[in-house]
Amino acid sequence: MSEASTIFDKIIAREIPADIVYENDDCLAFHDIQPQAPVHVLVIPKRRIENVASLQDGDSEIAGKLLLAVGHVARQLNLAETGYRVVANCGADGGQSVDHLHLHVLGGRQMKWPPG
Ligand code: AMP
Repeated sequence: MSEASTIFDKIIAREIPADIVYENDDCLAFHDIQPQAPVHVLVIPKRRIENVASLQDGDSEIAGKLLLAVGHVARQLNLAETGYRVVANCGADGGQSVDHLHLHVLGGRQMKWPPG
């Protein structure tokens, strides 16, 4: 686990504002500040985990809860019927810029493949 604090810690602590769409005891979801689709939400664990690569066997519960939170957000924002994309950028080649695990939920338009 990374010891370095990130901007997402400040969002969790309400030290900086975010457009929060969903929250439970373990997860927080808020609109991305630079949306890449009509709907672009980030789902994060409140506990700091650096990325997918740093998940441990003991993190299976929070990993599952993150995916369940994605489903909740998708239903809440009416993406469930039309579909959406879930992305986890991991590390330098993955294009990760914030070292706090987050799932991008992108929807509201037709996604392309392969991604850039
Ligand atoms: P990644 O590049 O996968 O690490 O994604 C980090 C995401 O965090 C980017 O899409 C940024 O636009 C987003 N982001 C950075 N700062 C904020 C913020 N203060 N509020 C909302 N989203 C942010």
